[in-house]
Amino acid sequence: MIKPLNKVIIVTGASRGIGREMALLLAENNAEVVVNFASSEKEAKETVDLIKSKNGNAIAVKADVSKKDEVAMLFDETIHQFGRVDVLVNNAGVMDMKELSESSEDDFDKVYNIHAKGVYHTMKEAYSKLSDGGNIINVSSSTVKMMLPGYSLYSSSKAAVEQMTRVFSKEVGRNISVNAIAPGPVDTELFTKGKSEEFIDKLKSMSAFNRIGEPSDIANVILFLASDESKWISGQILPVNGAIV
Ligand code: NAP
Repeated sequence: MIKPLNKVIIVTGASRGIGREMALLLAENNAEVVVNFASSEKEAKETVDLIKSKNGNAIAVKADVSKKDEVAMLFDETIHQFGRVDVLVNNAGVMDMKELSESSEDDFDKVYNIHAKGVYHTMKEAYSKLSDGGNIINVSSSTVKMMLPGYSLYSSSKAAVEQMTRVFSKEVGRNISVNAIAPGPVDTELFTKGKSEEFIDKLKSMSAFNRIGEPSDIANVILFLASDESKWISGQILPVNGAIV
């Protein structure tokens, strides 16, 4: 059983999708949650309202994770409002499927700036501003292992996230744990947009459960990794994917 969290938790990209589900579950378990977003203000406020409607505590803070100054402001605003930051969940992400030969340098910069640089900026802030004994959880992707055509930029930027996770876990100190999860396909806008039913069915058939994941499948694992009960796990990449790979 997970004990009440009593922690202040930043969830990046929590306006919708998996991040929203994480924010709701963490708040239900007594965390004070910072719902970060880059542009979807209305959705971020909806996430906060949903949390408050269940007597939880949350605020929305706009910050583009690819921008160093905005990430610093995200941490400072959290500390200003809640007094500390105990857990950082690096969930913000984007997907634009293109084969490498069809992609542009701008495509490369966009996905690497949000995934690799976003995790770099937030972990650098966490280095000095996260509470002793805190937890950092980065969100990678099972596509790192899957070699699917169209995923070269997306999955390679997530591979960078995985390696930063491993190395930073041994650098950060102060009893802070650093892990990543690698979800398989999850039913959100990021995954379904632009994909044929045939392709989605193919991915379903590759899992042991003949389905794709739900945001709650991922949020449940984040709840454990944000808790003190997971403390002895650090430097690890945890697949959360119904055995798809
Ligand atoms: P989603 O529904 O599209 O949500 C993405 C979230 O990221 C939104 O809240 C978005 O907010 C935010 N975001 C995007 N760029 C940002 C930036 N520069 N700064 C701050 N926030 C930003 O996607 P999702 O499916 O929930 O994905 C969440 C994470 O899981 C991503 O890291 C994704 O790569 C990973 N993942 C997803 C799947 C899947 O199948 N869905 C599988 C494996 C891994 P704004 O709209 O405000 O920008």
